[in-house]
Amino acid sequence: MGSPPLPMIDYQEFSLKVHDHAAEHRTIVNAQVEVTYGCNLRCVHCYTDCYNRPDLLKREMRFEDVTRILDQLHDQGCLWVCFTGGEIFARKDFLEIYAYAKGKGFLITLFTNATLITERIADFLKDQLPFSIDISCHGATEETFEQVTQVKGSFQRFLQGVRLLVERGLPVKFKTKAMTVNAHELGQIKALVESFGAEFRLNSAIYPRLDGDLAPANYRLQPEQIVAIEQSMQAEDQEDGRCGAAGETGLGPPPDDRLFRCGCGTTGVHIGAWGTLSTCTWVNEPRADLRVKSVAEAVEEVFPEVRGAHYETDTPCRACEVYTLCERMPANAAAEAGDQEQPVEHFCRVAYTRAEALGIKGECPVNR
Ligand code: SF4
Ligand code: SF4
Repeated sequence: MGSPPLPMIDYQEFSLKVHDHAAEHRTIVNAQVEVTYGCNLRCVHCYTDCYNRPDLLKREMRFEDVTRILDQLHDQGCLWVCFTGGEIFARKDFLEIYAYAKGKGFLITLFTNATLITERIADFLKDQLPFSIDISCHGATEETFEQVTQVKGSFQRFLQGVRLLVERGLPVKFKTKAMTVNAHELGQIKALVESFGAEFRLNSAIYPRLDGDLAPANYRLQPEQIVAIEQSMQAEDQEDGRCGAAGETGLGPPPDDRLFRCGCGTTGVHIGAWGTLSTCTWVNEPRADLRVKSVAEAVEEVFPEVRGAHYETDTPCRACEVYTLCERMPANAAAEAGDQEQPVEHFCRVAYTRAEALGIKGECPVNR
């Protein structure tokens, strides 16, 4: 007699259980790995574009650095790896990195703009299936798409790349950033994405570049436009712009005065293209150099500091009643408000406009 069949458990339930267990036991199960800041496009809202320069690309991790880090992540019990950039396929050895990670057994998500996908790459991915391929879709027409990417011919290359993936039945998903230059055709973008047989997801949070340059903020929509778009979209179309696995929902002040209310410092690490470990791409400090430290040592150094960070001033964010509706992060507050504890006017106004739409009265402290 064989052993009884194992009970089936659905993926969401499995993921939730693994994350709960990891949070409780302080282990790492997710890693986002930026393999390069290089990219063939120049999107107006891009936060990594400032590091897409030949002199800075020389600082990026070598193949051996990436594989050593993957080995250490594996030893730590990490299950999910998301490769991102820049554009992952702008890196010549990306398929070798990918194959190495597949060999380690990770569940792999790829973030890509799809414009560099060729028959060879699509065949390779078909042969070595990723968990998910997450593609940015900036527009439904050449004019709008290329107003965002600032590269002529990118829309046709995007369509071709997507076609190659969809034809092979690969697990594609799309995400769209709502901004000034594409707001007029969000309905068409949704229809385009659905014509690929895929799910459409939208969010509107645009952050400064990693070097603190505020230029992307020029492409933000007004709070009233954002809320009107959110109300017109079905709930499943909206991608929560707030990060992480904090699981905090509902309204009312935060239960404590921790500075990082996102998932930072719990179950996931971020590895930057220059080989540093942090809790998220925007958090510059604390960060540890993986060329001299192991992943375990870096986590030990960085995580307690992030988890232990508390508000030290009487900023309105500290006891904000609508913080769960707000996409402000300490790192972008440092760039935009000059202090990681302070409100960021745009996100503050968006959060209070959302609250008003829910019938909750309150006044944005930035406008007082
Ligand atoms: S495709 Fe992505 S990495 Fe490249 S410029 Fe656009 S947003 Fe930045
Ligand atoms: S920025 Fe405004 S809405 Fe956001 S947490 Fe701070 S006070 Fe609240």
